[in-house]
Amino acid sequence: MKVLKFGGTSVGSVENLQKVKNILISDDEQKIVVCSAMSGVTDQLVRLVENIRFGDTEAITRNLHRLETKHCDVIDQLIEDKELRSELKDSISFLITEMFELTSQKYSEAINSKVITYGETLLTFIFSKFLNSIGVNNVLLDAKDFMFVDSVENPNIDKVSKKLHKVLEAEIKSQIYITQGFVCKDENGEINHLKRGGSDYTATIIGAALQANEVQIWTDIDGLHNNDPRYVEETHPISHLTYNEAAELAYFGAKILHPQTVSPVVDKDIPVLLKNTFDPQAAGTIISNRTYKKGLKAISAKDDITAIKIKSNRMLMAHGYLRRIFEVFDNFHTSIDMITTSEIAISLTIDDTSNLDEIVKEIENYAEVTIEQNHSIICIVGESVINDRNSYKLFEVLNYIPVRMISYGGSNNNISILVDTKDKIPTLRFLNEKLFNTHHEALV
Ligand code: ADP
Ligand code: ASP
Ligand code: MG
Repeated sequence: MKVLKFGGTSVGSVENLQKVKNILISDDEQKIVVCSAMSGVTDQLVRLVENIRFGDTEAITRNLHRLETKHCDVIDQLIEDKELRSELKDSISFLITEMFELTSQKYSEAINSKVITYGETLLTFIFSKFLNSIGVNNVLLDAKDFMFVDSVENPNIDKVSKKLHKVLEAEIKSQIYITQGFVCKDENGEINHLKRGGSDYTATIIGAALQANEVQIWTDIDGLHNNDPRYVEETHPISHLTYNEAAELAYFGAKILHPQTVSPVVDKDIPVLLKNTFDPQAAGTIISNRTYKKGLKAISAKDDITAIKIKSNRMLMAHGYLRRIFEVFDNFHTSIDMITTSEIAISLTIDDTSNLDEIVKEIENYAEVTIEQNHSIICIVGESVINDRNSYKLFEVLNYIPVRMISYGGSNNNISILVDTKDKIPTLRFLNEKLFNTHHEALV
């Protein structure tokens, strides 16, 4: 059994859905296929939630109509049989009516989760029916029947495994099962989601739950590149990454992977392949526990970082000071990404600012606090990167870019620098030039 996940662009048009179909029938191994919503649909649903929040009924109607037309157009182009076409369009209308009923309720987190996960429901319904209509037999599974993820940060794989095995036993046996990414149920059995980009995470949770041979993540690029291709020219795909490297890159902003993608499969040693739907022959990236090459692999950037400087003369020679500070962050469930300290000050970064005001209020009881927003962490990643004989060149960035913090040696596999977000792209480009154009040999 293997798990294949197709992202928004891969399922984003009739032409692309045909490509996905060809990938699915290219071998006859048993598969669970996880699909995202069509590209742009989840964004549209996020806007719909805003319409609900502001009670904008005109925008709600417009938005739902657009959603219905988009999916009915796909049915018109994909399905040959006239009767089936109208049957499927009726089913889409039914789902849209369901959504309309939700929009009349008062905004809540629960409504938000229900609405924004509909894109996956709409797409998988159409795709599954289309495949069956052309003789590619498959069974559509409702992820809400088995993705019981009590804690998004720490999913209970055994629970998902039990539920999923039960669902599979009850269903007709099939070579292809289709299901929705992104959606899950929380500990109260309420619909929830795995955060934006979460279908990658669905795929690895299912992979771990079924002890799959591998998880394939099919997207619109030929694997994980050594730098962010949206901002830097001349990037190249990396053929092999370790779980650690992939986890660091995903956590520190490589958009191709949801930050938690690799965590469910690490202990089970299930490889994750990143593949290109538009070039299936391209090698892509294999993520596993094998280190093929040590040294510098890739650079990524994580935005929306807040730097907090905490300064107090009482810190001088005092012990237990850091513990007191960390306790405040712990009490407010806020995790810290980077830290640097001097004798009387500590600078640290967070990305979740939902409790920032309370944290500052608490710390201001005994220290002076300065907040700087709109920063980005640039991360240089590779097994043993700090021993790579080219890594020192990254410090040349100090000549050109105002660097706010540097974290070196916390782990052998990651060097991080903090810059103002307006300097992110120049920094990524500068580092690409310095570290990769001259990077002939890595440590083996
Ligand atoms: P999907 O919809 O298939 O989940 P995403 O848009 O989430 O796809 O991820 C793929 C995109 O990630 C690519 O098109 C690329 O622009 C972006 N990306 C950012 N950093 C990287 C990187 N280091 N390597 C490859 N792609 C990256
Ligand atoms: N459709 C969801 C999103 O856009 C999940 C995903 O695509 O992975 O965030
Ligand atoms: Mg994605």
